[in-house]
This record gives sequence, C-alpha cells and structure tokens, in this order.
Amino acid sequence: MQINAYGAYAGDKPLEPLKINRRAPGAHDVQIDIAFCGVCHSDLHQVRAEWAGTHFPCVPGHEIVGRVSAVGPQVSGFKLGDLVGIGCIVDSCKHCAECEEGLENYCDGMVGTYNGPTPDAPGWTQGGYSQKIVVHERYVLRIRHPAAQLAAVAPLLCAGITTYSPLRHWNVGPGKKVGVVGIGGLGHMGIKLAHAMGARVVAFTTSESKREAAKALGADEVVVSRNSGEMAAHASSFDFILDTVAASHDLEAFLALLKRDGALTLVGAPATPHPSPNVFSLIHKRKTIAGSMIGGIPETQEMLDFCAEHGIVADIELIRIDQINDAYERMLKGDVKYRFVIDSASLAG
Ligand code: NAP
Ligand code: ZN
Repeated sequence: MQINAYGAYAGDKPLEPLKINRRAPGAHDVQIDIAFCGVCHSDLHQVRAEWAGTHFPCVPGHEIVGRVSAVGPQVSGFKLGDLVGIGCIVDSCKHCAECEEGLENYCDGMVGTYNGPTPDAPGWTQGGYSQKIVVHERYVLRIRHPAAQLAAVAPLLCAGITTYSPLRHWNVGPGKKVGVVGIGGLGHMGIKLAHAMGARVVAFTTSESKREAAKALGADEVVVSRNSGEMAAHASSFDFILDTVAASHDLEAFLALLKRDGALTLVGAPATPHPSPNVFSLIHKRKTIAGSMIGGIPETQEMLDFCAEHGIVADIELIRIDQINDAYERMLKGDVKYRFVIDSASLAG
C-alpha cells in the first residue's frame, strides 16, 4: 500500500513530501493509522546524517500514536479502533537473553523504527512522519490515557521511556536528589517523571528563559549551568544526574556535583564526543559515568501506564507536517516548550 510521508533525499536537503510503501499486515502484524508523531532530536541527527549510516530517502519519526486499522489473523492483543503507540523499536531477534528479559532495546538485532534493516522495500525502515505503519504486535504499546490527550502522549514513546528507564534503573525515588540536565523534549519528561517518583529534582539549563517554566514542570530548583556560583552551591550533593543534552559539553562540571557513589548517566547522543573527563573525578568518590538507550517493550508499557495513572503527558506544540523544517531549526535554538508534535492529518491530500 502506498501512503504519504515526509522525508529527505540527502543529509543537506530539507524534508519534503514523498510516497512510501507499507506491507500488507502479516499474521502477527498490526496496522496503525497514525494520528500524531512527536519530533525527537534523534530524527534531526539521523535525517541530517549527523550520525553515521543514514539511508536515503529517510523518513524519521519514532513517537507514534494512532488507532489500529487492521490486524493479522494471529494477532490476539489488539483489535480495530484500539489506541496504540509505536516507539523506537519495530523488531528484534526475539530469542536472545535481552529479548527474553524484555530488554529488546539492547538486542543486537534490534530494528529501529526508521533507518533499520528490513526485508520490506526499500530495505530500511521508514518512520512515523507518514500516514500509517505496520508493526509486529510484540512492539505495539497500549495507550490508556484519554483519547483527547493523544497528541501529548506521543512524546512518551521516546522522550518518556528514555528518561523513565534510567530513573528506574538507578532507583530514583523519595530521599534521592536528582539532577536533569537540558530542558528539551527528553529533559522536561525527566523532570516530570523524577518528580512523580518522589525525588527532589534540580533542573540544569543553559537557557535563562526556561528558569521559571522548569519549576512548573516539577523541578524543586533550577540552576543555570553557565553560572558557576549556582553550580558550586550544589557541589557533592547529587545521588543521580541524567544528562539529556544534544551537544558536546563539559561533563566535569556535573561530576563535581555528585556525592560518593553517585552516577552521571548520559542519554543525549551528540554527533561529536564530549571532552574526556579526568579519571580522578571518578575515583576519588567512586563515581560512575553510564549510558542508557530508550527502554524495552514491557518497561515502555509500564511507563505509559505510570503516566496514565499520574496524569503525565508531554508539553507540546502541535505543527503541520509542512512546518517540520522550521521546527528543526527552532529545536536547535532550544525554541520549543518542549516537544513539537506533528498532526498527521496534515499528511492527507
Ligand atoms: P532537544 O529537545 O533538542 O533538547 C536538548 C536540550 O539540550 C536543549 O533543549 C538544551 O536545553 C540542551 N542543549 C542543546 N544544545 C546545547 C548546547 N550546545 N549546550 C548545552 N545544552 C544544550 O533534544 P531531545 O529530543 O530531548 O534529545 C536530546 C538528545 O538525546 C539528542 O542527542 C537525542 O538524539 C538523544 N536521544 C537519546 C536517546 C537514547 O536512547 N539515549 C533517545 C532519544 C534521544 P537547555 O536549553 O535547557 O540548556
Ligand atoms: Zn527519540
């Protein structure tokens, strides 16, 4: 089936309308009519070939929500009309230790929602800046939020799980002091989730203009990280810091804020590496630098249910698909509070 999509033919070209094919649903497949798709900074990194290995034409988008419009004969968990989501994963090997533990995100055979290998033409997956998607039911998530919130649920599928998973893994909760660095799509979700988990949350931003707004997200305190006096006031006090920044920056400044046994976990994936931290910054107080990538399917469902129960959605700005190139420029300037979401109805016609 041919559908409308938006993508780029090269890393230095803007996104434009194009047609793509979706397979007819196989035995275990769910077909989804996409209602909304969030705009992740990873979309920009990939489609502008800032990360290696982009296949063109590239159709980004991995924060997908919509309704089931067809199911294969073996599908048991979903029926026509169900509200569902697709995040960053559309396939994996299904039998390695990671898949068996529900950590498909760490399977060597994980297939990303875009730019991943697939037998479907043209040979790589194409994402949610499109009208429909067809995915094996194992990777389909159930949405329990009210339908009226659907657009604001979309960013949970990547920004939500990418922050929820490390917050859970590093046992964030009551009695813990937690920092979230970068108040963008990921960071604003990190603040909301850490607050809902009961932690004391400090947001770090380079943007003075976000100081007040970050408090409304649930931050107990906001630090402008360019201000060394404000930073020094928090020396050696954090249990955990989650760094969501999309650009290379100095990690030493944040390592100095960790207390003994504290961890700095990186989820931001800038195209150029961070300057290496000094090993003495780690060994003196047994500190850790770690990384974390999205989350597995069961944990993504757990995160969606946690958010539905706590009334958590993203703060979004809804756009038409023909505004996407401008939205990318604004995202680079930090000019979005805090996630663009595409109204997929604008792909029709
Ligand atoms: P975003 O909305 O653009 O937010 C990134 C934030 O980082 C900005 O709002 C800004 O916050 C801060 N920032 C940007 N440039 C900066 C600079 N030069 N110096 C200091 N701070 C800067 O991006 P996002 O969608 O949240 O994604 C963030 C990063 O995570 C991207 O690299 C993305 O590819 C990556 N990512 C990783 C995973 C994973 O699984 N690990 C999943 C999704 C995304 P302030 O204005 O508050 O400073
Ligand atoms: Zn993403």
